[in-house]
Amino acid sequence: MEYLPVCLKLTDAPVLLVGGGVIATRKARLLLRAGASLTVVAPDITQELESLLDQNGGTWHETEYRESHLNGKQLVVAATPEKRVNERVYLHACAQAIQVNVVDAPQLCTFIFPSIVDRDPLVVAITSSGRSPVLARILRRNIEALLPAAYGELARFAGRFRENVKAKLPADSARRLFWEKMLEGTVAEQVFAGRLQDAETQLLDHLEGVERCSGEVYLVGAGPGDPDLLTFKAARLLQCADVVLYDRLVSQEVVDMARRDAERIYVGKRRADHSVAQQDINQLLVDLAMEGKRVVRLKGGDPFIFGRGGEEIELLARQGIPFQVVPGVTAANGAACYAGIPLTHRDYAQSVRFVAGYLKGDKVEHDWASLQSDSETLVFYMGLMGLRVICEQLQAHGRAADTPVALIEQGTRMTQRVLTGTLESIVGIVERERPAAPTLIIVGPVVKLHATLSWFGQTAGSER
Ligand code: SAH
Repeated sequence: MEYLPVCLKLTDAPVLLVGGGVIATRKARLLLRAGASLTVVAPDITQELESLLDQNGGTWHETEYRESHLNGKQLVVAATPEKRVNERVYLHACAQAIQVNVVDAPQLCTFIFPSIVDRDPLVVAITSSGRSPVLARILRRNIEALLPAAYGELARFAGRFRENVKAKLPADSARRLFWEKMLEGTVAEQVFAGRLQDAETQLLDHLEGVERCSGEVYLVGAGPGDPDLLTFKAARLLQCADVVLYDRLVSQEVVDMARRDAERIYVGKRRADHSVAQQDINQLLVDLAMEGKRVVRLKGGDPFIFGRGGEEIELLARQGIPFQVVPGVTAANGAACYAGIPLTHRDYAQSVRFVAGYLKGDKVEHDWASLQSDSETLVFYMGLMGLRVICEQLQAHGRAADTPVALIEQGTRMTQRVLTGTLESIVGIVERERPAAPTLIIVGPVVKLHATLSWFGQTAGSER
């Protein structure tokens, strides 16, 4: 190993920074974040560096670098564009046994800066030993995506109980098991959700050996189909689920992201053929959580938009079972973006309305008169069966027959198709093209933009 990664404590440590340009400013930001007592020597410095020094009590020597600037310093960083200056800093520092880093010159460094993922107090450092900083940065980006933003909070939380747990569980292996359970289980999720008091109670209960139900339910928005549209939080919860409940709208790729040995339960719903009745789903969630399981209930799109998410957690709330709701990309957002149809647009639409378009008998019940504004985009969910009624009613209440309409079939999936027409023509187009569920209907002048802004997959069946 060419470099040993160590973590330097720089609180109040005297550090010299030679140079005052953009790169020096970046280094200053980092050193100040670590609490260094910073002295900058440079004839000129950026405005940002000047205010950083102001805010953090650093010093600026407005002059050329001299060897004496190194006196009493613990660490020096050189970031000047002058190669000769940088070399002198290096030689002087080596002579005085001061650790030195010359930016972008590994041969002039006794230490190097790693790429870092900062979840203070948890910090991940990555280095390519000066070989390929870009590779280190790519790796960093991947790790960034893996670590919840609140990991630092979790580390702080765990830190508060470290001594306590050590006293109670002196044996190394028992302590390790305890912490693994806490940091990968529901206690961690409570911390991420900002419920520190609950997390503390649970941790202390575990420590005292009090057995209690530690199950929890996560109502998770699975997005409209493309698994890349899942939130980081959804992906993480899928990875730690004991049980996953999903229905027909959730794409297989998303279900496949669940932990390998998680139990998967299909509770699919088709129109008028409810495979598992809603009350049974509600009760199942309660029962599984009572067994101490971590249950992920996947809902297509967003759980709180035409998803009956509210109903599913009502019973949990009444029974005092902990739950969380994770938003998802709703079909309107996903399908519109993937079809190149901005739902609002300064020239065409100042508002957007999400409307349930299902048939009750042979009617779609709405206050049709309130859906007449040309500057409002309408998005109908569940509207395929009622499409004819929707188009008729909108025209009967004053929307022009040539108002553009798009029907997006299986939005954001590889099978996405966009059919466009008008209130007058779309029914005929749909009869001819026979799109498969799920489909979404967008009404309004913004639909015209599809012709120029479409970017994803194939477009077929446009008005001919
Ligand atoms: N909670 C979901 C909506 C559930 S209602 C969400 O936020 O998206 C079911 C309706 O959503 C379907 O009838 C269809 O109109 C729409 N829908 C869901 N996924 C879709 C997709 N990938 N493409 C087009 N429409 C979709």
